[in-house]
Amino acid sequence: MDKQAVMVRVGELWLKSEPVRRQFIKTLVTNLKSAMEAADVPCKTEVFRGRIILHGDADRIADAASKVFGIVDAAKCIVTGNTKESIAEAAVSLAKEKLHAGMRFAVRAKRQFVEGFTSQQLAAFVADKIWDAAPDFIVDLEHPEYEIFVEAREFGGLVYDERIKGQGGLPLGTAGRTAVLLSAGIDSPVAAWLMMRRGVSLTGVFADSGSFAGKASKELAKDNARLLSLWCPGRAFPLWIVNVEPFLLSMQKSCNTHYTCLFCKRFMIRAAEYIAKQNRLEGVVTGENIGQVASQTLQNMGVITASSDLPILRPLLTYDKEDIVKIARSIGTFHESPGDTSCRAVPVKPATRSSIEVITEEEKKLDMEGLVAAAADSAELWIAKNGEIYRKERKS
Ligand code: ATP
Ligand code: MG
Repeated sequence: MDKQAVMVRVGELWLKSEPVRRQFIKTLVTNLKSAMEAADVPCKTEVFRGRIILHGDADRIADAASKVFGIVDAAKCIVTGNTKESIAEAAVSLAKEKLHAGMRFAVRAKRQFVEGFTSQQLAAFVADKIWDAAPDFIVDLEHPEYEIFVEAREFGGLVYDERIKGQGGLPLGTAGRTAVLLSAGIDSPVAAWLMMRRGVSLTGVFADSGSFAGKASKELAKDNARLLSLWCPGRAFPLWIVNVEPFLLSMQKSCNTHYTCLFCKRFMIRAAEYIAKQNRLEGVVTGENIGQVASQTLQNMGVITASSDLPILRPLLTYDKEDIVKIARSIGTFHESPGDTSCRAVPVKPATRSSIEVITEEEKKLDMEGLVAAAADSAELWIAKNGEIYRKERKS
């Protein structure tokens, strides 16, 4: 069998300065190695001028690499010697499998640190050989029906005709760390995934409302963390489970319950902020979305934002639900039959309008600081990794 490799292309690197680019590539290579290890795919990695080449079983490597953030696409390559002849031999056998009589084709060639021919000469040589093998193919550089790529590199030749689309984005770990309010729902795992795709490492925070929560809620939130961990192979996706029932009971006793959902969201943000500050996280992500529910009117989101001085990040702000569901399905976090995830604290008519003055006045009736600290300090810590989740004892 021919030697195989996968060559990945990295997105947006041209936007970065040289040192940043180097750091990005380094992180990406680490992430790729973790992904291969988690998928149990043996592979050897080489980096050439911003291109990453992974030697080994091309099908399995391309499959695992196409899920690593920061990769635009992955080409499954045949690895040959770096002479024109050996590149052409592999190109002919690949092209013959895909071309049929009368089809228009083009050869795209690159050459780097290999002497004796130019890339145009390499392209012409390979095209001639393909044509010799089957003269009824037509060379058409403008509008080919089939393109074959050949590269002569120091270490050998690469031949490929297919690129598998990657996820794009930035390598995970290159864009900071934040908390994410992760619920049992559809939106927040998608919000989390979009942030991860942009390079942000996440720590989940789930607010468990105890007897107010539907029976399936806690397990589903844990499952969401578990499923998200498949997108950061080899890394931990921590999930803090904060008990917010004492807060809800206090709030119901003392405050105007018309504003329950706002009090609750502000409390969740505060708990996430408390955990974020202890763990040096730089913001709080939510799955909120303009107009989706009463607490997500622009005005109410403004009141929610004011509960913390950390940035509140809402990657789904402008998405339609249909599009969110589509992403949830494609990333594997959509639960077909989620079970009971309802919240029994929601009032019959939740407030769509509020003001920071009214809400602040109401909250003065509570020992907010004490409630937040008690909830966050007693939170359970769960660690999701490679699609599994386990409870971790906290250091006291
Ligand atoms: P999702 O929005 O994730 O589908 P949901 O629809 O139950 O869940 P919303 O009422 O839309 O939640 O809440 C908006 C956001 O608030 C969620 O996207 C999530 O970030 C956060 N959130 C809601 N409930 C919880 C919870 N129990 N624990 C942690 N975060 C939560
Ligand atoms: Mg929602």
